Amino acid sequence: MGVVGEERILVVALAVPLPHLFDYLPLRGGASPQRGQRVLAPLGGRRLVGVVVAKKATSELPQGRLLHLEKILDDVVLLDDKLLELLDWCARYYKHAPGEILLGALPPALRQATGSLPEPPTQLRLTDAGLQRLAEGAGRAPAQFAFLKRLKKGPRPFESMSEMGPRWRATVKRLAARGWLIQESLQPAATETKPGPELTNEQQKAFAAISSAADGFYCHLLDGVTGSGKTEVYMRLLARTFDRERQALVLVPEIGLTPQLIRRFRQRLGIEPAVIHSHLSGAERLAAWENARTGRARLVLGTRSALFTPMPQLGLIILDEEHDGSFKQHDGFRHSARDVAIKRAAELNIPVVLGSATPSLESIHNAATGRYIWHRLRRRANRASLPVWRVLDMAQHAAIHGLAQTTVQSIGKALQRDEQVMVFLNRRGYAPVLMCQQCSWHAECDRCDAHLTWHRSMEKLCCHHCGRQLGVPQYCPECRADALCPAGEGTQQIEEELERHFQGASILRFDRDKTSIKGAMDRQIEQVRRGEPCIMVGTQMLAKGHHFPNVTLVVIVNVDQALYSADFRALEHLGQLAQQVAGRAGRAEKAGTVILQTMHPENQAIQLLLQQGYEAFARFMLNERQAAGLPPYGYQAMLRADAHQREQVQDFLSDALALWPPGEATACGPVPAIMERRGGRLRMYLMVQGGSRSGLHQQMDAWLGQVRSLPSARKVRWGVDIDPQEL
Ligand code: ADP
Ligand code: ZN
Ligand code: ZN
Repeated sequence: MGVVGEERILVVALAVPLPHLFDYLPLRGGASPQRGQRVLAPLGGRRLVGVVVAKKATSELPQGRLLHLEKILDDVVLLDDKLLELLDWCARYYKHAPGEILLGALPPALRQATGSLPEPPTQLRLTDAGLQRLAEGAGRAPAQFAFLKRLKKGPRPFESMSEMGPRWRATVKRLAARGWLIQESLQPAATETKPGPELTNEQQKAFAAISSAADGFYCHLLDGVTGSGKTEVYMRLLARTFDRERQALVLVPEIGLTPQLIRRFRQRLGIEPAVIHSHLSGAERLAAWENARTGRARLVLGTRSALFTPMPQLGLIILDEEHDGSFKQHDGFRHSARDVAIKRAAELNIPVVLGSATPSLESIHNAATGRYIWHRLRRRANRASLPVWRVLDMAQHAAIHGLAQTTVQSIGKALQRDEQVMVFLNRRGYAPVLMCQQCSWHAECDRCDAHLTWHRSMEKLCCHHCGRQLGVPQYCPECRADALCPAGEGTQQIEEELERHFQGASILRFDRDKTSIKGAMDRQIEQVRRGEPCIMVGTQMLAKGHHFPNVTLVVIVNVDQALYSADFRALEHLGQLAQQVAGRAGRAEKAGTVILQTMHPENQAIQLLLQQGYEAFARFMLNERQAAGLPPYGYQAMLRADAHQREQVQDFLSDALALWPPGEATACGPVPAIMERRGGRLRMYLMVQGGSRSGLHQQMDAWLGQVRSLPSARKVRWGVDIDPQEL
C-alpha cells in the first residue's frame, strides 16, 4: 500500500467506462490541484482530461505504480463540492461509470485538453476624447469615424462589433491606443420589464405557499391545467429569488425551449437568461455555462443537459412539464433529470417546483402521500373555460383516411367562424406502410422490427428507428404484382384529405420532416399567432407549450394504439397527451371543443379522463399499479444488453440471471425489448423488481460486481437502467 504523506494522493475521474476512479500523485514540480479542478492525467500511454474529486493519504496501488499528474488545466475550480457530491450520488444510484458522469457534466469544449474557459465578456465604451473625436466629423478616416459612431448611444458588447467587418479587432486596438475608446467588463444592459398581470386567487395561493416555505428544501407540485398561469407563478418566484441575489435553474423539455419562451422570460424578468441545450455550438454552450458558473447569469434556462450547470448562488429549481419523457436519458448515463434535480435541491436545501398540467403518476403519488406539497390550479388564468370533450366511436362512423364525417363538418364550421383547428396525429410521414394488395407484403426494415415509412416527398422508405432509407420498389418484391399501395394514414395524407375538403384554407403541417428545416417551425408559428383561420396538422410537437388563442377545435385521431401496448405506461402517456392536446383549445375568450376519435370509447380510463378529468384518471391508474405492485408502489431496474447476435445477448443475460443474489427483489428474463432490433442490434433485458428501494439497490450492487467479470459480458453492449421508463 502506497502511503504518500498527508492527503497527497489525488483521486481523479476520467471519462472511461469503468466503475472506479483513479489515483495519482501531484505534478512533478509538486503542484497539487484542488478538488473540482481539471487536470491532464496519463493512462495506459494516453493522456486524458480528468477532474480531481478527492484527496487521500493512502492508495491501494503500490507507490511505484502511482503516476504523476501532468498538468493543471485551469486556474479555477470548475465543479464545487456540492456538485461533486451530487455527481457521486448519481454514479452510485444509477450505477454508471463515475468518470463518464463527471466529465459529461462539463460542457463538451472542456472535455478536451485544448478547451479552456472563455475570457469574461467585455464591452467597448467611448471616452471623452472619443466623443470629441466624433464631434470633429469623419474627416479623412471615415472607417474609424463609423466605428466610433456605433458606440455613440452607449457601450456595446465587444463581440457585437464584429459586424464592422473582418478587421474589426485591429480597429479596436488602434482606437484604444489613441485613447478614444476603452474595453471594460460587460455591464448587463438594463432592459425594461413588463409588469405581469395581477395573480388569480389560485395563483396567489400557490405563490404564497411556495414562497413562505421557500427557505429550505421542499418539493412543490404545481399541478395546473394548461393556461392556468403556471409560468406566471414561476416568474414571481424567480423575481423573488433574484431580489435575494440568488440564482435559479429552470428546466424545460427539449421541445418546450422555444424562442417565445426565452423572450417571455427576458421581457418579464428583465435579464438575459443563460440558455443551455444540446443544440448549441460548443462556444455558445461554454459561454452560457461560464456565465452561470461565475454567477454573472442569474437565470439558467435549459433542457436536461443544463441539469449539472454549476451555479454558486443557486436558490431555486423549477422543472416545467415534469411528466415529459425527455427528462429521462435513455442511453449512456441513464437517469431522470427530474429526480436528480430534486436531489440537487435537497442537497442544497433549497425549494424545487415541479410543474405540469398532467403530472406523472409518480408525482401524483408523492403529492398524495405528502412527500410533495400539492398546489392545484384548476382554472384558466385568463378566464377561458375548459374545452368540451366529444368522443366519436369510430366503429360507428365511416372514416375515410382517418377523419369521420362529423369531424369534417366540425372543422368546416370552425373555419367559417374564422377560427383555428388542430388535427393531432401521433404519426408522421405519408402512408406509414407500403403494402401489397395481392399478397399483403409489408415494407419492413431489415435491421429493426419496424415497418418502413413511405415518405412520398423524398420517394424513400425510411426506418424511424435506425434511420435506414431505401428506394420505393415499383413491384411487390414478394409476388411481383403491380399492387403496392399505402396503408394507414400519416400527417401528409390527412393534410391532403383536408385540402380536398377545404379548398383554399390554410393548412399547416407540423412534424419533424418539415420542422427540421431551421426556422420553418418558427415561421409557421408566427403565422398561427396572427390568428388567421387555419388547420394545423401534426404530431406531439403541437401538444406543447404554444399559445394559440384562436384555436377552438382540436381533433385527436387514432390514439388507440396505446391502449393495448405491452408497456404499462402507454395509457398514462396517452392520457397526458390527450389532456395536453386538449389544453390547446379555447385558450382565450372562445371555448374549445376536443373531438376524440377512438375505437374504444368504453375504456374505463378514457371515460374517467373525459368525465372527471386527469386527476381521477391518474388515481384510477395508480390503483391498478398498486394492485400489480408496479411503480410507484414497487421499484424496478433493468439490465439491458444488445449485440448483433441473439445468442450473445441471451447467453450474457442468462449468465447474469444465474448470479442474481437472494433477497426480496427478484430478477426475470431475458425478455426482448418492445423494439427488439434497432440499428441491426438485438436488444433484450432482465427486469429486476422489488418492494423496497434500498433492498433492490443492495442486491444490484452485490450483483453487478460479478456481472462485470462475466466472460459473456465482453461480447455484448450492456448497461443498467434504474427506474426505467420504457421497455
Ligand atoms: P401555463 O404555464 O399554466 O400554461 P401561462 O402562465 O402560460 O399558463 O398563462 C396562460 C395565459 O394566461 C398567458 O397568456 C398568460 O399571460 C395569461 N395569464 C397568466 N396569469 C394571468 C393572470 N393572473 N391574469 C391574467 N392573465 C394571466
Ligand atoms: Zn405482393
Ligand atoms: Zn431500422
